[in-house]
Amino acid sequence: MLATKLIDGKARADRLLADIAAAAASLRGGPGIVPGLCAVLVGRDPASEVYVRSKGKAATATGIASFQHVLPETTSEAELLALIATLNADDQVDGILVQLPLPKHIDPQRVIDAIDPAKDVDGFHAQNVGHLWSGGRALVPCTPYGCLMLLRDALPSLAGAEAIVLGRSNIVGKPMAALLLSENCTVTLVHSRSRDIPAILRRADILVAAVGRPQFVCGDWLKPGVVIIDIGINRVEVAGGKPKLVGDVAFAEAQGIAAAITPVPGGVGPMTIACLLRNTLIAACRRRGRAVPEI
Ligand code: NAP
Repeated sequence: MLATKLIDGKARADRLLADIAAAAASLRGGPGIVPGLCAVLVGRDPASEVYVRSKGKAATATGIASFQHVLPETTSEAELLALIATLNADDQVDGILVQLPLPKHIDPQRVIDAIDPAKDVDGFHAQNVGHLWSGGRALVPCTPYGCLMLLRDALPSLAGAEAIVLGRSNIVGKPMAALLLSENCTVTLVHSRSRDIPAILRRADILVAAVGRPQFVCGDWLKPGVVIIDIGINRVEVAGGKPKLVGDVAFAEAQGIAAAITPVPGGVGPMTIACLLRNTLIAACRRRGRAVPEI
């Protein structure tokens, strides 16, 4: 039986945050640049408030200026677009993050399209999506990029690996597939209309699960030695106790079969915030024609 290794996303994110802080310090000391990240939150969704707060705290801790606009739920699309235009023109702001989901009366795509692609630190603008797929200079979506970093650490080489991505959302599954393809994996995207998902998953050398269904992937769908990145964050009720967070993969069943797996929580989540700050630093350097540090 294999000893399954735990991929410690928290430790990797801490190392990345330290590298970002060092790069931000040298930008401040040399050319006098302070990268700035502005988060925009519309409405009072408690989970979104937590995310925005923790992104702001992490930014400040790494020497990135953090700005926030918290707008009422009743904000119109036109008002939000006007704010985006102001932030696009603000030289102190290198990264604009509009926290999703937005209230129903606002079209998220129209808002994403309005963000200056050079400040689109989420990497969702069509121009960045196009660059990602065509091998151009993209700002890459944070969660998939964090997963790629974990995979590069876990495997000596990704080239030629059979990589299965479970889920095809624009923000996770599709950019993850693009990144794995650029690493020369053989990539399959699996979704709700795929036939015989267990048979497809059993081929995987690398499995990235982003389906949003608690413990969807069973142990007997796994090829021995597979490396698993579990992106799913699912809150499940526990009889007589507090709800707990679980991933998309049955973690206990993967033990002894997978070569390595990310835990939930403590796997992909911390990498997402660190990669957002990495993108902010990259955006700050590119916008000012500075060399982008290797981080
Ligand atoms: P999403 O937009 O709901 O997409 C889910 C994907 O899973 C869709 O492509 C859907 O297929 C597919 N799917 C759903 N049920 C399926 C089934 N029974 N069989 C096969 N495929 C199925 O979700 P998302 O935004 O990509 O997020 C996925 C998960 O990642 C969620 O748990 C989310 O909370 C988590 N997440 C975590 C982080 C992090 O930082 N750790 C960041 C982002 C997201 P169709 O396209 O056919 O509908």
